[in-house]
Amino acid sequence: MSTRVVPLPLSISNAFLVLGDRPVLVDAGSPGDGDRLVAGLRTHGITPNDLSLVVLTHGHTDHTGAVAAAASGGAPVAIGRADAPSLLAGTNDALVPTGPVGAALKLHMTRQHFPGFTPQLQLDGARRLDEFGVGGELVPVGGHTPGSYVVLLDDGGDAIVSDLVRGGFAGGRVRPGHPLRHYFTEDRAANRAGLERVLAHGPTTIHVGHGGPLAATDVRRRLDAIT
Ligand SMILES: [Zn+2]
Repeated sequence: MSTRVVPLPLSISNAFLVLGDRPVLVDAGSPGDGDRLVAGLRTHGITPNDLSLVVLTHGHTDHTGAVAAAASGGAPVAIGRADAPSLLAGTNDALVPTGPVGAALKLHMTRQHFPGFTPQLQLDGARRLDEFGVGGELVPVGGHTPGSYVVLLDDGGDAIVSDLVRGGFAGGRVRPGHPLRHYFTEDRAANRAGLERVLAHGPTTIHVGHGGPLAATDVRRRLDAIT
């Protein structure tokens, strides 16, 4: 089964279409991104009705905020069980900053919220995506948040790691392909282990929630600097 990853840039974060036998959407932008998300799907000839699954890589509101629009066609929504409380409440979790910029952003992020959403699937272990039409796997890694997941495709070319690392400065507008430590990480050792797990899978391209895409060789070279 061949698969392709298509980034859908939203207001401050990226969602992704994973195009296999059926399309899977990974992440769902910020509150207010719904129209932009649906328009992004439409440019690829897809409506929310066509999605077989909506995967939320973690529970931060800049990745879950437009989940209602993403799921408006009836696709089930999956999120790691440890991050489900954030989604149910429509708020962020503790948001542990990795530096002063993260501390400043936290003031904004803690105010961001949306009507809570009840996911159909709360994930514990790894989960294959074959039944949703994609040759790949959701793998729990923690790190950024306790319930963070990555998407590893069987093709091996692409991986989606969302916020385990970010790409570039100013929300990815400057040097988007430059791997940098994310502004928030709840468990830095787990975050590093997660990235090592992804690199062991052997991807060429690593897709991130802000900026990117990143060359896997650059992520490996800068692993000490970004974890
Ligand atoms: Zn995040």
